[in-house]
Amino acid sequence: MERNLAAVRVRIADACTSVGRSPDEVTLTVVTKFFPASDVRLLAGLGVTDVGENRHQEAEAKAAETRDLGLRWHFVGTLQSNKAAAVARYADVVESVDRAKLLTGLARGAAERGAELDCLVQVSLDPPGAGEGRAGVEPDGVLDLAERVAGTGGLRLRGVMGVAPLGGDPAAAFARLAEVAADVRRLDPEATWVSAGMSADLEEAVRAGATHVRIGSAVLGRRPTIK
Ligand SMILES: *Cc1c(COP(=O)(O)O)cnc(C)c1O
Repeated sequence: MERNLAAVRVRIADACTSVGRSPDEVTLTVVTKFFPASDVRLLAGLGVTDVGENRHQEAEAKAAETRDLGLRWHFVGTLQSNKAAAVARYADVVESVDRAKLLTGLARGAAERGAELDCLVQVSLDPPGAGEGRAGVEPDGVLDLAERVAGTGGLRLRGVMGVAPLGGDPAAAFARLAEVAADVRRLDPEATWVSAGMSADLEEAVRAGATHVRIGSAVLGRRPTIK
């Protein structure tokens, strides 16, 4: 794990150097889904500050087990509206805000916790007409949703998140995400985060301006079960 983590940090640094960015501009979030809380603890010992999860029950349990570590928890999965409040009680960042219906629950959870919740609007990067794609709001709906997030008490709009389409060109997808991110920043100058890039495409994401990369398998190895 230590070796993998070091290799990922080198990849991030090299990608930054190739476009004249500083590695300090990129936060590494290690996605720990399917791996036990004991691994989260090891990661914290190796200097990891941000961890991500995509399923509520698993995330809630692991966050509770490792509360003493002071990690930042990123929720990166599809969110059911009836779970939104519960997620906001332990997550520091919800990266997968993809519809207005989630906002009331997220705000309620944040209020119960007594902390502002950082939110990213998840942008669909699938080509138009791809049919049932992955989660995320279509680019032309992003500003409307971003405005609603920014206007909801207890929620802080921090930027956008995207997942490159399977089989597509990640550089092109992340270029589209960068355009949307710039529009969101014009709406709210504090919304500077761009979460893009996973194990297979972190270089393309960093080159396109990602401020956050979400890395699972390159650090933890192959996940124990198929997602
Ligand atoms: C699992 C997951 C990741 C990490 O994927 P790897 O390919 O293992 O690096 C990143 N983002 C999201 C939304 C995920 O669900």
